[in-house]
Amino acid sequence: MYMTNSIIKLDHITHKYHHSVALSDVSLEVKQGEFWALIGPNGSGKSTLLRIILGLLKPTEGTIQLFGGPIDSFKQQQRIGYVSQKSNAFTTRFPATVLEVVRSGLTSKKGLFKRFTKEDEQRALDALQVVKMADYHGKSIGDLSGGQQQRVFIARALVSKPDLLIMDEPTVGIDRQNVESFYSMLSELNRDYGIAILLVTHEIDLVTQLATHIACLNRTIHFHGVHADYEKMSESELSGWYGHPVRR
Ligand code: ADP
Ligand code: MG
Repeated sequence: MYMTNSIIKLDHITHKYHHSVALSDVSLEVKQGEFWALIGPNGSGKSTLLRIILGLLKPTEGTIQLFGGPIDSFKQQQRIGYVSQKSNAFTTRFPATVLEVVRSGLTSKKGLFKRFTKEDEQRALDALQVVKMADYHGKSIGDLSGGQQQRVFIARALVSKPDLLIMDEPTVGIDRQNVESFYSMLSELNRDYGIAILLVTHEIDLVTQLATHIACLNRTIHFHGVHADYEKMSESELSGWYGHPVRR
């Protein structure tokens, strides 16, 4: 494979669920070290786009390349860390410690029960250090606040040393003060550790200060369906969507 700094390249992606158009002609390229905020109203196709990038859905039309090649290998997937919208479901199902949750990111199956080496453990502790949660390694995950749990899930995604971290509305249910410190931690991950970020969020007033790029999935109201358009919107248009002032 030739050398490239391209992590994700989407060209003219359209996705239909049966006959309903969720994404229409979306093109986007995320390169090493970039911090992308992916915004758009509910139903504009943000989660669908992430599912396509993660290889969970095959687009109806268009092409996707990861690291300059087609999506085909587990190794590529290891270079992309994903924190889903509902990571927290994990915490109620398994009574695990913070360290166990993070270590489980090193393996695809039965992560909590695998035998781990001292080196695995050190990698998990290093990842916890990055998200500023090392002091909590022995605590039960269920005893942490929502914001702290979210940091632990990010550490879990970081143990495989990904080039890109993808998150779908990670701050839902976290109070405002903790949201701000969560975002500054993400910004540090990006700036100091060079990890590219693709973040789906509604908190655009906060992320516009941090993101290097913003993609809007713009839903224009047409009765025949959803039209997803990738474009820059004006501040007043964005404010209209989100009900508060937006700085760019
Ligand atoms: P967002 O994450 O921006 O809120 P989604 O990607 O979840 O948007 O959804 C985009 C559109 O696709 C919505 O109209 C939604 O109702 C529809 N949709 C999402 N998932 C499915 C599905 N599994 N089957 C059918 N329609 C779906
Ligand atoms: Mg969504």
